[in-house]
Amino acid sequence: MDEPDLQTLLREGIAAAKAAQAEAALVDKSQSSRIHRIGAAKTSQRERARQLLLRVTELDETNITAWLWLSTVLDSLAEKQVCLENVLTLDPDNKAARAGLARLDQLARSAPSQAEPSKIVPPPPREEKRTVSKAAKASGISCPFCRQTISAVATTCSHCRLPLVVNCPACGAEVDVEKSTCTRCGRTMGDYRHKLKYFVELATASQEQQRYGEALKAWQAVEAIKPNYPDLHLHLAQAQIGLGREDRATLSLQRALKENPNSTEVHYVLGEMLRQRGEIEDAYARYLKATQLDPRHGRAWLRLGQLYEQARRGKEALQAYQRAAKVLETGSVESRQVRQQLQALQPALPEAMMTGWSELIRQMSGPVLVCLLAVLLDSGLRPWWFGWSGWLSLLLAFLGAFLWVSADSLPRNPLICQLVGHEGLETTDLRWLIAFSGLFCWILAFTLIIMPIGQSFPEPPNL
Ligand SMILES: [Zn+2]
Ligand SMILES: [Zn+2]
Repeated sequence: MDEPDLQTLLREGIAAAKAAQAEAALVDKSQSSRIHRIGAAKTSQRERARQLLLRVTELDETNITAWLWLSTVLDSLAEKQVCLENVLTLDPDNKAARAGLARLDQLARSAPSQAEPSKIVPPPPREEKRTVSKAAKASGISCPFCRQTISAVATTCSHCRLPLVVNCPACGAEVDVEKSTCTRCGRTMGDYRHKLKYFVELATASQEQQRYGEALKAWQAVEAIKPNYPDLHLHLAQAQIGLGREDRATLSLQRALKENPNSTEVHYVLGEMLRQRGEIEDAYARYLKATQLDPRHGRAWLRLGQLYEQARRGKEALQAYQRAAKVLETGSVESRQVRQQLQALQPALPEAMMTGWSELIRQMSGPVLVCLLAVLLDSGLRPWWFGWSGWLSLLLAFLGAFLWVSADSLPRNPLICQLVGHEGLETTDLRWLIAFSGLFCWILAFTLIIMPIGQSFPEPPNL
């Protein structure tokens, strides 16, 4: 809402409040009976003023003028007091508010039936400005969920226990449940009439945004609507953990386990809590249980890997990380974490192997041997029958394997260093090109062997 709208609302609200005062004074003079005064108090002007000014305080809870005028058109002393207290919270030296509160005090003492307003509505703590808007609810309203009449300043229905004001998951602003969008950031808040769905969505979004207090409040509303909502206690526990209320979370998780002893997620969350508390062995047991119940629980595998690593059990850590890498969604934070851990656990070959002959020969022998075997079979296992194409393909296979290995895994092998210098292929940008030429050579070699080009079995010598 922009400024002009707010100003118009305020102006109209004040005008209506003044009109209501004039009306009341008129009725006061002509008919002094109490019944008529009450009748006058409920005139349309007064109601209109109330609605307009409430709207202004909802839009701008720091609007002192609106709070002052609102106090003149509310019925109950408690509500008037809340308005004036709000003014003093915003402006501690406000004379009008001080005078008004003093007058209310006198009234409360002289009229015992309306005394002790603080018991009906506790005024907001002065240092907490956010409670100000909580007072901004129309008097004599009914709960949107259960239709029971509720206190004008209630933020939770005393009958159905559902919140009447929720927090926007995006910006945290307090939003009336009946509003479909956030008044501050415009986020769609959903339809409160769907009740369960409304609060579940609110809770999930709040949890995602790490607004755990709001998430907890919304999950508690879900609990009030449907106590056996699936995984409810797990959700409550996750919000409680976010808030650092571990003892409550433990209770919720115990209840969740009682309801569903085979819930993978409950075991995992328990593991997380125990791990953070430093109870590593118990945490380990929970993660293990989670992976037993669901071998595709990547986050549990990741945690197991980390615990194994801490315990210096490298082989098990490696296996756990490999399991995690297989099932975790690629691109996720956890997946990246796993890849880093895997790289750390599987370091590159030591320097001596990178630059030694043995590793070069070992890596090249595979592809060369495949071709040699094929040539041998092609010549009936008689090396003296190798034709020119046989020898050529062996040469090509050797060259291909050498290029591939040099470009792919051993860029500083002794042979390439002798050919191109000390750096080998470490710094060249053409490694992929060299690797592909190597691959091409090898494939060519293999094709030469299996395609009978200019080669046939020599005639057995005539005897
Ligand atoms: Zn209710
Ligand atoms: Zn918002």
